[in-house]
Amino acid sequence: MTNDCDVLIVGGGLVGSSLACALDAIGLRALLVEAAPARRLERRWDERHFVLTRTSIEALDRLGVWPLARHEAEPVRAVNVTGVGDFGSVRLSATEHGLEAFGATLPARVLGEALAARVAALPGVRVEAGRLVGLETGDDAVHATIDADGAARTVTTRLVVGADGTDSAVRRIHGIDVERVDYGQTAIVSVLAPGRPHAGIAHERMTADGPFALLPLAGDRTGLVWAMPTAEAERHLALDDAAFLTAAQRVFGYRLGRFARAGRRQTWPLARQIATRLVAPRAVLVGNAAQTIHPVGAQGFNLGLRDAVALATRLAAAGGDPGAAELLAAHAAARASDRERTIAWTESLLRGFARTGALGRIARSAALVGLDAQAALKRDLAFALMGHRDGLDLAGLTRTEAA
Ligand SMILES: Cc1cc2nc3c(=O)[nH]c(=O)nc-3n(C[C@H](O)[C@H](O)[C@H](O)COP(=O)(O)OP(=O)(O)OC[C@H]3O[C@@H](n4cnc5c(N)ncnc54)[C@H](O)[C@@H]3O)c2cc1C
Repeated sequence: MTNDCDVLIVGGGLVGSSLACALDAIGLRALLVEAAPARRLERRWDERHFVLTRTSIEALDRLGVWPLARHEAEPVRAVNVTGVGDFGSVRLSATEHGLEAFGATLPARVLGEALAARVAALPGVRVEAGRLVGLETGDDAVHATIDADGAARTVTTRLVVGADGTDSAVRRIHGIDVERVDYGQTAIVSVLAPGRPHAGIAHERMTADGPFALLPLAGDRTGLVWAMPTAEAERHLALDDAAFLTAAQRVFGYRLGRFARAGRRQTWPLARQIATRLVAPRAVLVGNAAQTIHPVGAQGFNLGLRDAVALATRLAAAGGDPGAAELLAAHAAARASDRERTIAWTESLLRGFARTGALGRIARSAALVGLDAQAALKRDLAFALMGHRDGLDLAGLTRTEAA
């Protein structure tokens, strides 16, 4: 039986597209199937700005994506964590680690466009519009049913990767359960023009309602990610620009002077959803399909990219059948510690933010000024910002002859 491709990637979002680049780099033939029309994808990527870790930047560079995106990147030179009503603060600077920057911010739209351009130029990747609707898994191959505008067709492959986001069809078809927590929060994202230069500092401000982050962007603008209870978000969305800026100023203060302008506002409902298994026969989950996490630690794409890199380098090292059960089991085992650590770090940040009332404030102040707690927070922050590298072999992302 001939296969249409070595690997079928379901979902051409940021992680699925990254995986397509990585598979091409190791000489596998990939088919990438994306359900959403191109224009809708671009709209969805619009207003968000990501913090990318050093590890992610290095991986994207090796995949030929970073050169297409770097013109809009802004280095993150320091991080400042403060709390509303608290006395303490934690300041972490890249120079303390002998670095010029921890990582960089990049508009999600620019990352999406760079990935799409790179994928379109790769010889080993075919991109098709369509929605995965069924999987029939045999001993040696998988038959996937793709619906394209009402016409169904079957694709035969050896491995299916579910890069199809939070509502993953691959996960559902394989009956993989999820642990889901609805935070009851919505994030408002926008761009603010501050009165003073941001100096490459990312600000995380703790509030009783949720985290308020201001990220340094190119052109001396800042990217706002402001999480709050959903009803509050609706109220803030209805404000005119001047009232919205006043509300933001009230939370952030005047560390960057007076906010002059706000860009378009966009909302994102927030929930955590973790798949209880990463693999099934001839199938594996990556990115948001595997784990959707709160944006507070800026880790979702960074973690999903590491899923993709780890999978590709394992496939390259193993050679042979990319859907072999032992290979997939080894991949799942190897991803466990990075997943658990990243999810735990994100949740610990949130717990810190969630404390309310006078007692909570005292506890948070203690956490921010207490030396031991500071050292622990700084260590975790640096680790998260630079990107976990355990077991990742970025050098394995080099082009080899087709298998
Ligand atoms: C406000 C906010 C800020 C964030 N900031 C950061 C940050 O600073 N740093 C960071 O690392 N991460 C950040 N994240 C997280 C990041 O956005 C996600 O983790 C990442 O985009 C997930 O990408 P993905 O490709 O796995 O999933 P998705 O982007 O959801 O892509 C899945 C794709 O699969 C397609 N699809 C779905 N079903 C099917 C099907 N049946 N057949 C075919 N295709 C299908 C969809 O159309 C979609 O294009 C943030 C998230 C939010 C909400």
